[in-house]
Amino acid sequence: MTSTALKMLVDVHSHVYLPRYTALLRSRTTVPLIKTLTTPDGKPDDRLLILDHEPSGGRPVGSQYWDRDEKLKFMDQHGIDVTVVSTANPWLDFLPPPEAHKLAHELNEDLEQYCSSSPKVGAGNSTQIPRLFGFGLLPLVPEVSVSSLLESIKQISELPHLRGVIMGTRGVGKGLDDEALDPVWEAIEKAGLVVFFHPHYGVDPKAWGEKDNGHVLPLALGFPFETTTAITRLILAGVLDRFPSLKLLLAHSGGAIPILSSRLSSCVVHDPVVASRLKHDARYYIGKLYLDAVSYGPEEMGFASESIARAGRYENGSQETATQKALSVKRSLGSKRMMFGTDHPFFPPLSTTEKWKSVVENLQAIEEVQGWSEEDKVGVRGGNAVELFNLKA
Ligand code: URA
Ligand code: ZN
Repeated sequence: MTSTALKMLVDVHSHVYLPRYTALLRSRTTVPLIKTLTTPDGKPDDRLLILDHEPSGGRPVGSQYWDRDEKLKFMDQHGIDVTVVSTANPWLDFLPPPEAHKLAHELNEDLEQYCSSSPKVGAGNSTQIPRLFGFGLLPLVPEVSVSSLLESIKQISELPHLRGVIMGTRGVGKGLDDEALDPVWEAIEKAGLVVFFHPHYGVDPKAWGEKDNGHVLPLALGFPFETTTAITRLILAGVLDRFPSLKLLLAHSGGAIPILSSRLSSCVVHDPVVASRLKHDARYYIGKLYLDAVSYGPEEMGFASESIARAGRYENGSQETATQKALSVKRSLGSKRMMFGTDHPFFPPLSTTEKWKSVVENLQAIEEVQGWSEEDKVGVRGGNAVELFNLKA
């Protein structure tokens, strides 16, 4: 990899609803759907309803979700060189298996086209890198056959600009710790694809009480806690022991898993049945994960990187002790598994000329993490993603 490529700003958490998917949402009368209201001055006003109890009558939705020029404009405005785009939630979760299979196939082809015809970045012909890469979709819905899933994995691994899959947390109905998914993990591991775990369902909305807090509680707490639960179940089911080379990238810096991992370890130790299923202390598995740097604060990012770096200490048979490593050494090591992201086009600014807070605040946070060297920060901004996704011409 050239040193210029390693210095790029790469966004690994950025969404699209491609035109084919948008058309489906527009055609629907039950959630998920896009409906068109009319503003008081007679203009059309598209609204996105994707949650079962969508607060505030739905969220404004516009061309940033489906128009590639808007994605590129956003990238230009914020100095983002390359984006690895993914379909936004709820993916194909709501479709019966034959439709999910067909649409996954078509949308993967569409995404390849979206990326392959994109402009390129970099000086000189030999080092030019496409500005857009993608995560493909699997038809992960109840009753889908394993062969359908394996077919999609094969398709994605053969599309040159697709470097991974985005995945919700429901699996084929029973969650991601379902043994039925073992052939899927095996195929993904073998293909070297990155799995981007992303939430959609949150937690039971009864937890939010009766006050109207808009989208704040489901998005700030429900989303990351869904990811936390899903990855914990995956760890407890031994999936990371059976498939140790899986590349799992967690949205929103892994939610609460970094801060809860010692408590998790303690609870496992006190439950011999669960403990007997795992090869290592629960904290070891945090070091196997990749996390986006979408947590908006330097302390949160720093701590997440520490929880990744200390994981080696918890490998069965490891000799390393808690006091051996300085904070900067630990955080530096952990930073190698963290990557800049924006969650575009969610959370837009209130005015059209303003920069997006998700970009400004996450970049600022990366800049301010205690214990990350300049080289670590360059890695988190893009170099780590260039390596993980093998982003080259
Ligand atoms: N970010 C997402 O990716 N999806 C949402 O629904 C909200 C924020
Ligand atoms: Zn997202």
